[in-house]
Amino acid sequence: MGSDCLFCRIVAGEIPATVVRETDTTLAFRDIGPKAPVHVLVIPKEHYADIATLAEGDRALTADVLATAAAVAEDEGLLGDGFRLMFNTGPYGGQEVFHVHAHLLGGAPLGPMLARDLA
Ligand code: AMP
Ligand code: ZN
Repeated sequence: MGSDCLFCRIVAGEIPATVVRETDTTLAFRDIGPKAPVHVLVIPKEHYADIATLAEGDRALTADVLATAAAVAEDEGLLGDGFRLMFNTGPYGGQEVFHVHAHLLGGAPLGPMLARDLA
């Protein structure tokens, strides 16, 4: 994917980001428009469009993303009060950047899971 993908460019160091954790296979950095006191994005360094493609394509890398998210949650002091981890996927999910990323949100009560009741 490379130069066409915003998050590949962050991995490549071409666009700055506030990195909070890096492993051989993953990168965690602060969201540029935080929706909570802690809002970190966790991505695989390798390009996959979304969580469905990643989970189908590389189970070990999927586990790496989750493990990095859990480690950041601990670093940020979120384990006691809790946090939310979510993958917006596709148009109904509101995905805007098509390089899979987990949103790690915490630091305050996050309210209902959805803004509206759709059932
Ligand atoms: P999504 O709607 O799930 O695709 O989320 C994309 C997220 O990426 C949004 O929360 C944006 O605020 C965030 N974002 C966009 N550009 C950057 C950037 N350069 N650095 C950090 N976060 C970004
Ligand atoms: Zn990418």
